[in-house]
Amino acid sequence: MGESVNVVPLAGMSLTETEDLLAQKKIERRHGRRILYWIYKKGIRTFSEINDIPKEVLSVLSECFSTGLSEPVSNVASSDGTVRYLFTTEKGLLHESVFIPEGQRETVCISVQSGCRMGCRFCATGQNGWRGNLSAGEMVNQVVSLPHKVTHVVLMGMGESGDNIDEVIKALKVLTAEWGMAIGKSRVTVSTVGIAPAVKRLLEETECNITLSLYSPFPDERREAIPAETAWPYKDSLNLMKTSRADRYRRFTVAYVMIKGKNDTDKHLEELKRLLSGSGIRVNLLPYHRPGTDGDYSSDSETMMRFKHLLVTSGVGASVRKSRGLDIEAACGMLAAGRTKQT
Ligand code: SF4
Repeated sequence: MGESVNVVPLAGMSLTETEDLLAQKKIERRHGRRILYWIYKKGIRTFSEINDIPKEVLSVLSECFSTGLSEPVSNVASSDGTVRYLFTTEKGLLHESVFIPEGQRETVCISVQSGCRMGCRFCATGQNGWRGNLSAGEMVNQVVSLPHKVTHVVLMGMGESGDNIDEVIKALKVLTAEWGMAIGKSRVTVSTVGIAPAVKRLLEETECNITLSLYSPFPDERREAIPAETAWPYKDSLNLMKTSRADRYRRFTVAYVMIKGKNDTDKHLEELKRLLSGSGIRVNLLPYHRPGTDGDYSSDSETMMRFKHLLVTSGVGASVRKSRGLDIEAACGMLAAGRTKQT
């Protein structure tokens, strides 16, 4: 993000970490909260933009730290209002976020890694490999540095949260803390393929919503599409979610990408009902956005609506997610930073 090696970026830091860093530079700890306000709430790029902290403090700040924030390098807008942003890190790791306006709700979907090493078959990101982890600051930057007011954040862009869990948890704290961005915990959702130790940490250390990417309730079939099933059986994560008390502010969801003839049969429906009945876990049915290589097609909307109806009438909450940003390759499973269709 443009800073030299000796300069510490503050974006991603907690209040205590910031105060400790300031104290090391003989700056009074009380300035920490104000500095974070300017970074997380005002999105400043340089400390010279701060107007309520003494000049001599700002001069030390500029010498030793950077804000850690940087603008997107490009963006492309969809006809439906969705905007896909491309960011890069100091090390040149490309990553994308997607802004999705819908009435009063303004959601940003952010990346947690540049690429992904999970290799899910239905996802363009997974098919393009992994280039590196993003820091908490680089995650937060994808929210702070957008030219939009954001009401909801979903960590469902590039990368697997469980594969970068320390930084993801740090970012969640910044996004929700009153000294950070102060976004309501119920408005922040983390998606995962279900790396059980990471899910356990999300349950214990955060109060955000969790979405488990399922694909199929049958482990053998799931393994074909989500190779992580081999090391991390989804049932372990699902059981953790089932036994954790989800209060009314915290939502657990299963994301179910529907592929025609593969995972949209009555057998799948019955198993989903059996697994989720009485658990309070909802199902979000997603259309498949073909990466273009495997000859698979999305289930049609009639099949998806029938699935939803039969889940709901059996007592399992369910919804069908609308595709957004299809024309700019910003819909679910389509992010692959580095393509040419960017302005
Ligand atoms: S679906 Fe998520 S975990 Fe799977 S390859 Fe894509 S980005 Fe990675």
